[in-house]
Amino acid sequence: MSGMRIVFLHPPSLLERRRTIPGLFAESVDGSGHFTRFPLGFISLSNYLSERGWECRILNLAARLARSGYDRAVADLKQLDAEVVGIGIHWLVHAPGALAAAQIIKQKRPETKTIVGGFTASYFHEELIAYPQVDFVLRGESTEKPLFELVAAIKSSGDFGEVPNLVWKDRGEIVINPFTYSPDVIDVDYSYHRVIENFLRYRDFWGSLPSPSGWFKCLQNVVVCRGCNCRCANCGGSNIALGRKTIVRRNTEDIVREVLFAERVTPSSEYIMLYGDVRMVGTEEIIDGLTEARIKNPLRYELFWPADGDFLQDLAGTTRKLLISFSPESHDELVRQTFGKNYSNRKLERMIADALQLGADLTLFFMVGLPYQTPASVRDTYRYIEYLLEEFGAGYPGRLLPCIYTLAPYLDPGSPAFLEPDDYGYRLFYRTLAEHLDALNRTDASEILNYETVAMSREEIVRIGYEMTEKMDKLHEKHGLRQPKPTRRKLTKVQA
Ligand code: SF4
Repeated sequence: MSGMRIVFLHPPSLLERRRTIPGLFAESVDGSGHFTRFPLGFISLSNYLSERGWECRILNLAARLARSGYDRAVADLKQLDAEVVGIGIHWLVHAPGALAAAQIIKQKRPETKTIVGGFTASYFHEELIAYPQVDFVLRGESTEKPLFELVAAIKSSGDFGEVPNLVWKDRGEIVINPFTYSPDVIDVDYSYHRVIENFLRYRDFWGSLPSPSGWFKCLQNVVVCRGCNCRCANCGGSNIALGRKTIVRRNTEDIVREVLFAERVTPSSEYIMLYGDVRMVGTEEIIDGLTEARIKNPLRYELFWPADGDFLQDLAGTTRKLLISFSPESHDELVRQTFGKNYSNRKLERMIADALQLGADLTLFFMVGLPYQTPASVRDTYRYIEYLLEEFGAGYPGRLLPCIYTLAPYLDPGSPAFLEPDDYGYRLFYRTLAEHLDALNRTDASEILNYETVAMSREEIVRIGYEMTEKMDKLHEKHGLRQPKPTRRKLTKVQA
């Protein structure tokens, strides 16, 4: 099998000269408008195939475009020397860039096989396979093994009908293989050593970059599990959206090993991030493993529902500095509940108080664009944030960071709200991939949104989104929290 070359390509949202998605939408991701952060699955896929004899490279075309411009990005594509290119359409916003990149690759080297995958690609597999520049679509969120079988079949001219989850073309006829591969336990490796090798081998700093926040900052992400037991209305990654019954677990030893690796290569990092709430996969084992490993770097945990003091104490025992990311979405308990999160502000505030007292830092994410939320309700959320900062943050300067972002540009395809918008108080404007691609050509930010709610029009969502961006910047400044980004201020001014 040696000698086969595969490139995992992370496309920009739009592969066009001087055009990006309006800033409000990129705001919570990277601010560049190109959506440059590649999915962590690229790491495990690349590691899995490399271990089995493939020569793998990850090319972050979005970062390359953001850094060096359109001409250089297209030149990189034309020079790609690969038998197989796997293009990620994990997030819908990357679909236009993915299709444009695949077209350029096929024009230059028609013999190169193109595979698209990711949440969005899985949902829109029938539309995607109809594009001439797409040879295969691989469905599912754990595709290491099916991908290995697919590339082996490409190499040996084998039978594509045997590859689970695959969508392909047989002499022009579309074939959808059964979706039979959905493991409960995965033995995959997310460690970054091959990303570093990738960078050294291809001497491509920006094209190998996992995220725009810089090399070292982005070598610190560790995945705890795949899937999620929660039922957030707009999320395409929950078990309910994916049709899974259980969380996909990872071995504790692998998690600890990857945290230690991240610590070794980035000893003075801001923090190491653990993705996925550890309570979903057997807390004790992971907490024990991390505690015994005596991690020196700060650890940032994602928590999906409020934690009690004992659990926070356990988390604090795993690190010298505990950081927590938490998304209450709204101050309004009913809005939060309709979105899929059922807990009170009393519990939320108890957790904030406990965490701050234990020495933890908290980042809280609130959202614009929720079911039954009105502009007045969003402004009440802002006032609630002011209350949190005064009531809880005042005694702990700089350690409580609340943010408000806009749910944009899409409800995730396949999410409960996308499938049954009426049940959640949403109105959906676009359902097909073609409709979404068309929407991305609009210049009016509100027309790009694929939804509005029964309580807020698209124009109102965009307007209140920008209003909150501006107000939160000022509030952060007032409390000595992070400084507003210049791009955000500029965009707010342009769009207001
Ligand atoms: S958005 Fe909700 S359902 Fe999706 S991963 Fe986060 S907590 Fe789970």
